[in-house]
Amino acid sequence: MCDVDLGLAGKKAIVCGASRGLGYGAARALAEEGAELLICARSREGLQQAADELEAEVGVRPLIQPADLTRPADRQALADAAVGGLGQVDILVANAGGPPSGPFESHPPEHWQLAVDLALGSVTHLCSLLLPGMRSRGFGRIVQIVSVAGLEVIDGLILSNASRPAVLGFARALAREVGGDGVLVNSICPGIFLTQRIRDLAVERAARMGISAEAYVEQLGSDIPVGRPGDPRELGDLAAFLCSPRNTYINGATVVIDGGKIRRLY
Ligand code: NAD
Repeated sequence: MCDVDLGLAGKKAIVCGASRGLGYGAARALAEEGAELLICARSREGLQQAADELEAEVGVRPLIQPADLTRPADRQALADAAVGGLGQVDILVANAGGPPSGPFESHPPEHWQLAVDLALGSVTHLCSLLLPGMRSRGFGRIVQIVSVAGLEVIDGLILSNASRPAVLGFARALAREVGGDGVLVNSICPGIFLTQRIRDLAVERAARMGISAEAYVEQLGSDIPVGRPGDPRELGDLAAFLCSPRNTYINGATVVIDGGKIRRLY
């Protein structure tokens, strides 16, 4: 929690993919600032655990709604549950898991469909459901958690490299359409953050390399100027600011949070 009042108390937020990882980090930061939350992910069990954790850490119990964000019916049910449970939705944090990794020839057509449904289908549909309310009330904040794979090629992540730029383009274009109605739309591109997904990957890759998971994580930090992977809480603080009424002029931005790792200039 920061000392600056972000003005989030009482704001109503949906945080997607929040049973763990970066989504949980964003949910935690918003809850700390007094926002009322509905969190979603695919499994009810995972959501209940996350809700227990949030209650223990921040003293706030969020509403939960299981939803597979690749399914239109689940997205509709999610928006309905949020409006029903919270009264309205002021903030959307759009986030989910990444698409499968691997080289081009390892991906059947279904993987391509999944990548598009997960990245672009989920956020565009949720925005179409939630924007009318935000615009009519003259306040809304939409933040998407994307990836630096939307900005530079990462070997082995061809599905991400192909689908993430579309999502970044969507946010920039939408920001121009709705900024005049008090709705600001931004994207966060994380570098490497120590979430459960990355820890699991570390165990797998470290075993292949014949080193310990700790040594592998240390190596991850060696190409990052601040010397370590990020903590989901650091991303959560950024998301909370961008989602807050305190943010009045950052709109259509792609904000990189990666400890200085990325080398691109534009
Ligand atoms: P994670 O796997 O730890 O968490 C993903 C969350 O999304 C979980 O709550 C999961 O249940 C939920 N989810 C997955 N698929 C879903 C679906 N179809 N419908 C609804 N919920 C779904 O992942 P993470 O590390 O927190 O990453 C979050 C996003 O950020 C991903 O898109 C990832 O590719 C991206 N990202 C992560 C990193 C990193 O270092 N962690 C770096 C760059 C980009």
